[in-house]
Amino acid sequence: MCTIAQADSERGTRWTRALLWTSLLAALGLGLWGLATWAYRDGVARLADQGRTDLDLYVAHLHGLLAKYEPLPELLATNPRLSDFLRAPGGQASIEALNRYLETINRISDAADTYLMDATGLTIAASNWHAERPFVGRNFSFRPYFRDAIGGQLGRYFALGTTSRQRGYYFAYPVREGDEILGAVVVKIDIAEAEQRWSKPDRIFLVTDPDGVIFVSTRPEQRFRTLFPVDAATRARIQRSNRYPEAELAALDMTLGAALPTGQLVRLSTGRRWPGRQTYLLQSRAMPAAGWQVHALTDTGEALRDSLRLTILAAAMVVMSGLIAALLLQQQRGRRAHAALAEAARASLERINLQLEERVASRTAELTRSNRRLRDEIDERLRAEQALREAQQALIQSAKLATLGQMSAGINHELNQPLSAIRTYADNGRLLLRQGRAREVTDNLEQILALTDRMAKIGSQLKLFARKTSGELTDLPLAPVIEGAARIAAPLLAKSDGHLETRVPADLRVRANDVLLQQVLVNLLGNACQAIAGGPQRRILLSAVRLEDMIVTRVQDTGPGIPRSDLDLIFEPFFTTKDAGEGLGLGLAISARIAIEMGGALRVVPCPNGACFELRLPAADIHA
Ligand code: ADP
Repeated sequence: MCTIAQADSERGTRWTRALLWTSLLAALGLGLWGLATWAYRDGVARLADQGRTDLDLYVAHLHGLLAKYEPLPELLATNPRLSDFLRAPGGQASIEALNRYLETINRISDAADTYLMDATGLTIAASNWHAERPFVGRNFSFRPYFRDAIGGQLGRYFALGTTSRQRGYYFAYPVREGDEILGAVVVKIDIAEAEQRWSKPDRIFLVTDPDGVIFVSTRPEQRFRTLFPVDAATRARIQRSNRYPEAELAALDMTLGAALPTGQLVRLSTGRRWPGRQTYLLQSRAMPAAGWQVHALTDTGEALRDSLRLTILAAAMVVMSGLIAALLLQQQRGRRAHAALAEAARASLERINLQLEERVASRTAELTRSNRRLRDEIDERLRAEQALREAQQALIQSAKLATLGQMSAGINHELNQPLSAIRTYADNGRLLLRQGRAREVTDNLEQILALTDRMAKIGSQLKLFARKTSGELTDLPLAPVIEGAARIAAPLLAKSDGHLETRVPADLRVRANDVLLQQVLVNLLGNACQAIAGGPQRRILLSAVRLEDMIVTRVQDTGPGIPRSDLDLIFEPFFTTKDAGEGLGLGLAISARIAIEMGGALRVVPCPNGACFELRLPAADIHA
């Protein structure tokens, strides 16, 4: 539904747009047409102004031309020589004299011909008397000008000369003697002059007679044609008058156009230019005295070209304005689209940013939570480690005490032996003193001193062993620690009736805690003593070597060794194969832990007989 409504609305918009464009183009076309028409009319009006002026000038010229000759026949007629001649022509000499007189007058007045006719219309003297076809002897009584003159009036007439074949305007005046009219004197003007200087490319001047016959035209091909078609009767009458001998009197190929206040538009074929017919503005003036109509035909091509130029210019300007407007509109649209795009991008960025911030905030909260959890766990672990360390310390301590407990019989023996020896030496010394054997007394006292020294040493070693330690590591020589451990273990060794051999180079230095290291060694020696007890060989070898960065100390015994099945268990806490009261099963577990904490390791290594424990610790110099 929504899509159909959308399509309908889109179609409607397209239609509206098409209608708008059509109306706009139609209005533009109409406007341009109006402009073209106005420009054409305006151009034609300007041409009409010029045409009217030219026409007035032309009419004035014609007036001047006629006015110049109009009084001449009358003036000639007053000469009694003419009337005398008409009355009595006389002989050849007289005729020739008059001919010469008329020739002179004709030359001076610059007329075409001047001649004298008698009352019958016969030309009796003429200025062209010696020309090829002279008028003399010819009768022109049929000419209206003759009839007018014989009638006593100024005769004026335009015609194509029947003899000369030249167009001419005739002025005729009666020659009187008293009241009697004896004949007529005629002056003929060559009308071609009215054409020669007025020929213009864009303007045609023509003169028509009352019947509309063109007898003057600046375009030769138009002469002796009619401006408008004439009916057959008129044509017959004109031809009968012999005014224009042999002229066909065909009408001009002309049709009427719009009638303007300034003149009449006509379409005229001049037969000269393409496209055949041009539009001319026809303007006319009457010359009533001569019975003429003078016309000017002005080619309106220039106005048409001007209007076309203006219209094309206007169209170009409209198109350019349209293009500029479209460009501006496009730019504006582009700007708007750009702004919308930027806004959309900004909004989307903002949204993304917001989402990002939310995500970051949630992640941060999550991280903070997990951090707190982690910190709690670390604290927990630290606390546990601390507790463990404390427990270990306690265990170590109790293990030590346990070891001391195990060793108490041996220690007891170790202390009782020198004590009883001291007692014996002291008793002997008293007896010897009584006997005055001072030197022997001194020996006994020295023995007593040596024994007390030994007891003090045992005591200090035990004190050292039982001491609590912080576990701090230092660089220390290995041999004294081994010596101390051997001394502590000495009562056990004695109890097992074993033999301890130590092979420890004096220069070996180890990175360890002396108390803990001694504890491990005492532990290993204690186990070895217990293992060899009752055995056939009862030997213990305590050796140390340096292997690369490690000091490797081995405690090897000739006891029964460790069954393969127990190898994985002996380092477990509370694993013991000994009778209750003899072992807690903590010694190796604690020793292995101590070895690890000092950066080393404790393990069982294979050996041909008995058991062999290997303690690896970092050499001291690698930390120096
Ligand atoms: P305890 O000596 O109290 O039993 P230990 O952790 O020191 O605890 O030793 C665990 C067990 O490992 C002993 O019970 C014994 O079975 C075995 N063991 C330790 N040292 C030796 C050794 N040198 N020879 C044979 N067995 C040994």
